[in-house]
Amino acid sequence: MTEMILVIGANGQIGTELVTALRAKHGESQVVASDLHPPRNADSNGPFEQASVTDATAVRAIFEKYKPTQVYLLAAILSAVGEQKPKLAWDLNMNGLLNVLDLAVEFKVAKVFWPSSIAVFGPNSPKQNTPQYCVMDPNSVYGFSKLAGERWCEYYFEKYGLDVRSIRYPGLIGWKAAPGGGTTDYAVHIFHEALAKGEYQSFLSADTELPMMHMDDAIRATIGLMEAPAEKLSIRSSYNLAGVSFTPEQLSGEIKKHIFGFKLTYSDNDPRQAIADSWPKSIDDSQAQKDWGWKAEFDLPKLVEDMLLNLRKIK
Ligand code: NAD
Repeated sequence: MTEMILVIGANGQIGTELVTALRAKHGESQVVASDLHPPRNADSNGPFEQASVTDATAVRAIFEKYKPTQVYLLAAILSAVGEQKPKLAWDLNMNGLLNVLDLAVEFKVAKVFWPSSIAVFGPNSPKQNTPQYCVMDPNSVYGFSKLAGERWCEYYFEKYGLDVRSIRYPGLIGWKAAPGGGTTDYAVHIFHEALAKGEYQSFLSADTELPMMHMDDAIRATIGLMEAPAEKLSIRSSYNLAGVSFTPEQLSGEIKKHIFGFKLTYSDNDPRQAIADSWPKSIDDSQAQKDWGWKAEFDLPKLVEDMLLNLRKIK
């Protein structure tokens, strides 16, 4: 079957890499990129549609024009920005999702991907090896919009038979695109500043351990989940997914092996610290391993080596 794939929120940190990967696999003309803003990648010749996912009429027109067989919904307001604009975050993260789920049912889209986040966990969730099912009391707007989104995804699967698939991404680290205002952004900025200035000021404290993942692993997981046979998938809310967990201090130690004299300092009283403190330190992803054969490839040394190697090439 020839796929027609629609990626909404295509200009962001994940979309930039996902669209490239999907176009390499399915052909440029088979992957429609869509975003609120015009395309950033001027080299890309594939189809592009500018629209807000909260504008149901505009999104319907895109569905009518392309009749997508798969839709990836990436448009969202992330954790740090969400605390500055809570109502806007709720509106985009919820109504954008509901618009896409409704259109996907109406247009009989074969598969929908929507990412959740480790932000669905809260201060009373277990911190180490956080299980798939446990107390979930997220206290950021972003976190509870994702938790509500997970419930809607499972609901559309159960009630309408929509094949929705989802991953709770950890903090994602890639060299191709800038991060979009999340709590784990320090782990991308640190590489740029290490190369440019030999120093970086972290907005999270030295011992803040968080689950992270190299972008290549995240893209592989996303496409892997979307290609898994439907009957193998036992979770229709969102799968826990683990890559590698580390603190700013541990990341800095690894960077120092490549950039002699790299200096990491820390700022006080950043509001992102409270969000980070409410999140897990590490994730149990045994269900993803069991159901669709997930396995991360990047540990911390490999991640750091790859980031520095690629950023040096493009700087
Ligand atoms: P991003 O902020 O980098 O990109 C989001 C994109 O959505 C941007 O290009 C933006 O222009 C677009 N957008 C914003 N409002 C829109 C609207 N109304 N209509 C259409 N497009 C709009 O985010 P990202 O890091 O690429 O994240 C993508 C998804 O993955 C989000 O759902 C996010 O919550 C989730 N996620 C990301 C991470 C991470 O570390 N990057 C971790 C966990 C979950």
